[in-house]
Amino acid sequence: MNESETLPAGAPKPIFDRLVNEAHAIGKEVLAANAADVDRLARFPNESIDALRRARLLSAYVPKAFGGMGLNVVQIAKVCEVFGQYCGSSAMIYAMHKIQVACVVHHAQGSPYFQSYLRQLVDEQRLMASATTEMGVGGDLRSSICAVEVEGDSFRLTKKAPVISYGEAADDILITCRKSPNAPASEQVHVLVRRGDYTAEPLSTWDTLGFRGTCSTGFTVTSHGKAAQILPTPFADILAQTMHPFSHIVWSSLWSGIAIDALNQARAYVRTEARKTPGETPLNAIRLAEVDRVLQEMRNNVATFTHEYHDLLMHAPREALTSFGFSIRTNNLKLSASQLIVDIVGRAMLICGISGYRNDSKYSIARHLRDAYGAALMVNNDRIMKHNATMLLVHKEG
Ligand SMILES: Cc1cc2nc3c(=O)[nH]c(=O)nc-3n(C[C@H](O)[C@H](O)[C@H](O)COP(=O)(O)OP(=O)(O)OC[C@H]3O[C@@H](n4cnc5c(N)ncnc54)[C@H](O)[C@@H]3O)c2cc1C
Repeated sequence: MNESETLPAGAPKPIFDRLVNEAHAIGKEVLAANAADVDRLARFPNESIDALRRARLLSAYVPKAFGGMGLNVVQIAKVCEVFGQYCGSSAMIYAMHKIQVACVVHHAQGSPYFQSYLRQLVDEQRLMASATTEMGVGGDLRSSICAVEVEGDSFRLTKKAPVISYGEAADDILITCRKSPNAPASEQVHVLVRRGDYTAEPLSTWDTLGFRGTCSTGFTVTSHGKAAQILPTPFADILAQTMHPFSHIVWSSLWSGIAIDALNQARAYVRTEARKTPGETPLNAIRLAEVDRVLQEMRNNVATFTHEYHDLLMHAPREALTSFGFSIRTNNLKLSASQLIVDIVGRAMLICGISGYRNDSKYSIARHLRDAYGAALMVNNDRIMKHNATMLLVHKEG
């Protein structure tokens, strides 16, 4: 990772507060307005991503030196939480794009190729996707079958990727693969492939329970490009220091946003009920108080970990990010947030009763619940639990 002065340090509070208001306005006017249609048709939320482009939000994590907004990870997490309140799929797309941007910002700034790429990303508001999952290895991020083949200053790479969110709409894809055809499965690199330099043959469709607008279709990606498009840092370091913590922070943040919106629906429902029996606290108001406490726990958990990561990024030696303790806490955040979202949204559904269960009611929580169940699968929770179990055999908290 580069020195801390090249990392996005964050926008001043008044400027960031204005941006949060703007994000809420985009959320209400664009994301929420199209969320049901995006979900029903499992279509890419063009309107949302166009609005984020117009607001220059696709380069929010790019340091100011390259023309970006220079928001820090705490601020990015907040923006993801805001968008989660309006459309889970749009928020997920934004969060996944930000993870890829962070990988480049943290690990490739020293490269003239990526310096120029970051400026281009800012100018053109390019959308970045990710292909880590692979046919044959599933969700094991630290193992690849495909390999990049470098010849002179060029490369060729083919990957069978069963899930690439918004693969068709993306401008660029960051792909994990083996470092060379002779390298072992775990000796991986991260390669940027650019629209126009790859073909994508569909492998599967995307007709899922939730996060339907992420359009996470599978493709065989066949690509070529310049060897300079291979990130200069080994993927193992990119994963430990950036992709792993950043993913779990931005995902947990947008899941919190989905939970906040479900609770808001429940609150609106209870208010209407309460008006029918003035002077009496309805039973579901007690349920509302209970679920509000759980939501607070979830948000506190996300905030504590996000601040820890931000502080380590800014002030600690990079080894701090590769410690077992930090990795276990990262995993715990994901395990906890992906379970709490289901708990909170389920409780909100109980409060709203049949009105929450219906697809055609203004209190419907059906989409929230369907999206909520995707959280545990984005890197399967059992896989994560097994990693923690292994690390905990040797790691002891001080
Ligand atoms: C909404 C959404 C968007 C996504 N977007 C992308 C994307 O853009 N790019 C991308 O690359 N991927 C993406 N994914 C894929 C995702 O991150 C996982 O890699 C993928 O869902 C794993 O699929 P799986 O659960 O079938 O496979 P696995 O992780 O292989 O799990 C299958 C089953 O095997 C078990 N299992 C397998 N190995 C182990 C092990 N070692 N320890 C314990 N249990 C094990 C699991 O517990 C599970 O029960 C997305 C997924 C979702 C839900």
